[in-house]
Amino acid sequence: MKYIYDHDMHIHSRLSPCSGDENQTPRRILDYALANGLTTVAVTDHFWDPSVGECSNWYKPLNIEHLSKSLPLPQDDKVRFLFGCETDMDMKGNIGLAKDNFDVFDFVIVSTTHFHMEGFTVPAGMTKEERKERYVRRFHQLLNSDIPFHKTGIAHLTCNLIDRSSQKAHIETVDMVSDNEFYEIFCGVARSGLGVELNIYVNWYNGDELSRVLRPYRIAKECGCKFYLGSDSHHNTNLLNAPQKLTSTLDAFPLEEKDKFIVK
Ligand SMILES: [Zn+2]
Ligand SMILES: [Zn+2]
Repeated sequence: MKYIYDHDMHIHSRLSPCSGDENQTPRRILDYALANGLTTVAVTDHFWDPSVGECSNWYKPLNIEHLSKSLPLPQDDKVRFLFGCETDMDMKGNIGLAKDNFDVFDFVIVSTTHFHMEGFTVPAGMTKEERKERYVRRFHQLLNSDIPFHKTGIAHLTCNLIDRSSQKAHIETVDMVSDNEFYEIFCGVARSGLGVELNIYVNWYNGDELSRVLRPYRIAKECGCKFYLGSDSHHNTNLLNAPQKLTSTLDAFPLEEKDKFIVK
């Protein structure tokens, strides 16, 4: 059975500084789910848990108290509305959510690819080779973390934040990773039970670029990984475009229902 677009597990609300959009409310997110027949959505605002250790000034206000302003989430019988967060990994490989505090959230996504936060997530001034090494290393650091993988996903693993020196530079970093290195990562991901996020702007890429961007996902599928869709919407306009964004990803990378990551 063909994979159905019936969920969106990566959505920001007004509480994320990169949204700051007063109209991007939990109610608006629920309405997006209802309008598109989605049965599961998650609000995943940016988050860093101070009990884990030092963070950048940007993350400092983004604690549990701040994210809890979304609670209680509006409810509807047709939709499972998950309270989630998008946390990060610092330069040393610490995940920004203490194991004990995973209970606060229904679902957690960890970004290993926020390379734009130089000095916090990655060192400044990396060479292309160093960038590639960090890209690979951070997946292994996630896999080596003691966290509940069954309720955790890996956010936007091929996004343009990996290298913003040009709009397409991130593809070159992905190209530098060998098939074997990706097999090693994703066979570990499949064993761990972590979800793999599909969050690809298919329309940004020409055919060759898209095929290069999809290579890690193809390998992840071969390894038996499970996938969830995440639009990473920050604004109401993103929510309007999310159905097209997510269904075009499924057209480019066909999956079966059995490949779906489901939070228990
Ligand atoms: Zn992100
Ligand atoms: Zn995000």
